[in-house]
Amino acid sequence: MARPFLPKTPERLEWLSVRRKARSQVMIALQSGRLIRAMACEGCGEHQKLHAHHHDYARPLSVCWLCASCHNQLHVDLRNAKRLPPGARRRGRVLFIPPATSNEIATAFRHIREAL
Ligand SMILES: [Zn+2]
Ligand SMILES: [Zn+2]
Repeated sequence: MARPFLPKTPERLEWLSVRRKARSQVMIALQSGRLIRAMACEGCGEHQKLHAHHHDYARPLSVCWLCASCHNQLHVDLRNAKRLPPGARRRGRVLFIPPATSNEIATAFRHIREAL
């Protein structure tokens, strides 16, 4: 989501480029069948317009699938979290969470909710 009020600092430009690369790797992996789009939102089960949410852009194919509303809510929750989930690190306004398996993802979601 574009946030035009944020200044284009070198860190932010680098982050935008990392994010762009991660998104294009998801597109390529989807086209080649290496990555499969989920059938339902992992948050609520919605089937429409799923987004790939990255836990860490350094692992571009480690994504979970969320509908627009759960995805938006997750980012609001991440921004508002007072305590970081274990293993998470902040870089500017961005929170990186390192889970890989769906079990770890579920645990991370629980920690995020508990941190609110
Ligand atoms: Zn959802
Ligand atoms: Zn996301």
